Amino acid sequence: MARKVKIVATLGPATDNPATINKLIRAGVNVFRLNFSYGSHESHRASCERIREAAEKQGKDVAIMQDICGPKIRIKGMKGTREIRKGDILYLSKKAHGDAFSITYPQLIDQLQTGDEIFFADGSVKVRVDSKDEETLVLKALTRGMLREGKGVNIPKSGIAMSALTEKDKSDLRFAAEIGIDLVAVSFVESREDVLEAKNILKANHSDAWVIAKIERKGALKNLDEILTEADGLMVARGDLGVESGLYTLPALQKEIIRKANEKALPVITATQMLTSMMHSPYPTRAEISDIANAVFDGSDAVMLSDETAVGEFPVEAVKVMAQTLQTTEKDFPYLKHFNKSKKGEAFAHAAAEISTTVKSKAIASISTSGATIRQISKFRPHKNIYAITFNQRLKNKLALVWGVEKTFLIDRDVSDTKLIYQFLKQIPNPKDRFIITMGSKTGIKGHTSMVRLIDQDERENIFNRFENEK
Ligand code: PGA
Ligand code: MN
Repeated sequence: MARKVKIVATLGPATDNPATINKLIRAGVNVFRLNFSYGSHESHRASCERIREAAEKQGKDVAIMQDICGPKIRIKGMKGTREIRKGDILYLSKKAHGDAFSITYPQLIDQLQTGDEIFFADGSVKVRVDSKDEETLVLKALTRGMLREGKGVNIPKSGIAMSALTEKDKSDLRFAAEIGIDLVAVSFVESREDVLEAKNILKANHSDAWVIAKIERKGALKNLDEILTEADGLMVARGDLGVESGLYTLPALQKEIIRKANEKALPVITATQMLTSMMHSPYPTRAEISDIANAVFDGSDAVMLSDETAVGEFPVEAVKVMAQTLQTTEKDFPYLKHFNKSKKGEAFAHAAAEISTTVKSKAIASISTSGATIRQISKFRPHKNIYAITFNQRLKNKLALVWGVEKTFLIDRDVSDTKLIYQFLKQIPNPKDRFIITMGSKTGIKGHTSMVRLIDQDERENIFNRFENEK
């Protein structure tokens, strides 16, 4: 059985060359993440070309995910390194001067009140606003640590008016459309509108990339249900989420975010620090293997490597360790029990998954225009692999992220249902392979799946006779 849970790997200086990209794909990478916090449009364009070339050479479906940085706030105007002790008083001002430092979004200072908390340097330094005037916040340090120019700033207070998309993000989205990016991860999403804004920019530039909402702010947790109505997928972005919501809440939040995504049949990625020790060691820790395995049991569609593959010393090994962990863990996954009741509109997908437990078949095949039926079949977590049959290459790529999709097939639109099946079967060399197949009676129109059918060798012969004779 092919591996069900997918691997996302971040490309970076350690891996962004043809030979290593080839090795990473062979080791099991399904999705490459391009981090737009770094690099230029030209360097990302070149990376894309390298990935596409390697994927094509190996005949694999590989998706490319752009990760736009969003309003990542940083310390600005701090001189030297400052050692902070508990109880110290700091001055955060709209403009740095003297002892006072500033941040890259000084306009947020107006929205902070006495008593609010601010975290610096991945949460290692916590402060509380003690008092404020027009220009300056007086901060009291709650922890000790080190601060310097460029360190990250997290403001956990929810409801802060801060668009998730900066001007750079907007230009990056237009660029994504231009180079045909498959998936876009949007950082620091707070609301449904943030997702919609990204989708609209993509759409206006003729891109139908799936938009993955990175859940890493308190506000996003509060608005999760409405974000789910607009997003095409979610990321449990444990790095910033751990800072904003507190480390100890992460395991439960991970389960909740994944469960909600699963329920909506949206692909969900669990991310950050999954194999941190492999940055400098060829071996993982027991805890890391457990974390990856638990992400599988929670219901992740995919798990992600960040620094491990971007700048780590053992990127290919990290992917191999991840693949091995997934494959071993999947033996004990509670297939089909993960979700056993279907909602309105999912009956055919659910039926196909059910039938696959008792009717002998090679795979569940699904002819799908938008990918929705394929995501629904995947939602029920069948033990049988899923073959996705679609009409466009972009969708083929995107499905690389979806749990359980083993192979994808491209066919041409046709008014005849049987002709569609015929086009698929022609790509299956073994005449003995049997398929449980779902499709619409008006295939080609979104959301019209209306049949589940078994194609066995007899059926195949009938179909072949009909169309081979036609020629
Ligand atoms: P980042 O997002 O690596 O872009 O910060 C992931 C996270 O915060 O976990
Ligand atoms: Mn983040």
